[in-house]
Amino acid sequence: MKEVKRLDEILGQKEVVNYLTKDLESKKYNHAYMFFGKRGIGKKTLALAFAKSIICQNGNPGFCGVCSSCKKFDMESYMEFISFYDEGESIKIEQIRRILEEEHLKKYEGSYRIIFMEHAERMTEQAANSILKVLEEPLPGTIFIFTATNPDDILPTIISRVEKYYLNNLNKDDLGKIMSDLGYENNEYLSLGSIDEARVLLDNLDQDLLDYQQFYQLFVRKDLNEIFELAEKLAKKPYLRELFSYYQLEAMAVYRKDFEEFNLKIVGAIDDALRKIKINVNEKHALEYCFLTIGGIFSE
Ligand SMILES: [Zn+2]
Repeated sequence: MKEVKRLDEILGQKEVVNYLTKDLESKKYNHAYMFFGKRGIGKKTLALAFAKSIICQNGNPGFCGVCSSCKKFDMESYMEFISFYDEGESIKIEQIRRILEEEHLKKYEGSYRIIFMEHAERMTEQAANSILKVLEEPLPGTIFIFTATNPDDILPTIISRVEKYYLNNLNKDDLGKIMSDLGYENNEYLSLGSIDEARVLLDNLDQDLLDYQQFYQLFVRKDLNEIFELAEKLAKKPYLRELFSYYQLEAMAVYRKDFEEFNLKIVGAIDDALRKIKINVNEKHALEYCFLTIGGIFSE
């Protein structure tokens, strides 16, 4: 496992860290925690820091890093830390059953068993219902830690049975620091507030792809050829969502400064395009419609 950060090293989430630290100090834990927030703002980092602190034999509210529990945690051999691997797919009931069977086995070590699930929104309905049963009748010493992007995608009955924390987007200073630790010197996407989103763009974006001002000017010029060319170029790009988030943030920033309506129009048209793409409308068509709308060439 890559190095687990300590809670006090986590940037940009002071409030949540304070609450978790209080739990660690008092050793009074909720039976389930759920961390919400945008992709790439450190939900998993926070969850692992918290989990390792719970199981450490010495270090509360942090972790010592040298006790046998800490060492096993780092080597992924701590029996009572069970995590669902992120396979980029839905989390199925069979996986939950397997965990819950282990759940009833007697504990091998430590006072707590922690079950960690990333992307809780990926649970199928059946899987979510079987988790719900456990949350309704919590087992002593067992702590669930979930992460999820959006509360709307989680069963309300589950949400009502977990302690919820909403993580902030990272501010530019914190994100800049994290990105430079990761070896990224270029920091033009810090407004995104998310490590993952900024990395996706920095890793993939064609160098010649438009910056926001160029994007904006395209619609001022209303050159149809250019507009269709851009739609063609962007369709199917794996970083489209991140790029559009970036354009939207830049458009909002200009709007807040100058109240220039045109920028609000860009935000709305991009929203509409992203929604269409999500429901599988052909990407090129969705982008063309979006760009023509922004340009005022195609009435809404
Ligand atoms: Zn320790």
